[in-house]
Amino acid sequence: MPYESALTIPLVSDCLFCRIVAGDIPATVVRETETTLAFRDVNPKAEVHVLVVTKEHYVDVATLAQADPGLAGELLETAAVVAETEGLLADGFRLIFNTGEYGGQEVFHVHAHLLGGEPLGPMVCK
Ligand code: AMP
Repeated sequence: MPYESALTIPLVSDCLFCRIVAGDIPATVVRETETTLAFRDVNPKAEVHVLVVTKEHYVDVATLAQADPGLAGELLETAAVVAETEGLLADGFRLIFNTGEYGGQEVFHVHAHLLGGEPLGPMVCK
């Protein structure tokens, strides 16, 4: 069923993930709560690769966690529920927040990468 937004919070018009939250850009949504949205990454890096975002726009996880720790917790809760519904709890998974230039962040709307479904290898390559 296509994702339909019933949003009442302010969005940033030129932000890709705000536009997904608004329903302007299609995404394969796997879970929605009042404050968060989880959808499949368009370029998956693992068998399971889901992005979890807050509907409200925050630039990155540090900004979110300092501005609204409760909402940061809700993002983590959504990630945990999706990890369970995707069957990742038994074998484990990885949750990544790329942050800023050195972190390799490309989309400046806070998002957790939930990765799993296969062995993921070393955390970083040197
Ligand atoms: P990051 O480098 O941490 O900012 O990650 C951004 C992620 O967004 C990348 O893994 C992209 O593959 C993903 N992405 C970009 N455009 C879309 C889209 N339209 N739908 C779903 N995922 C996307």
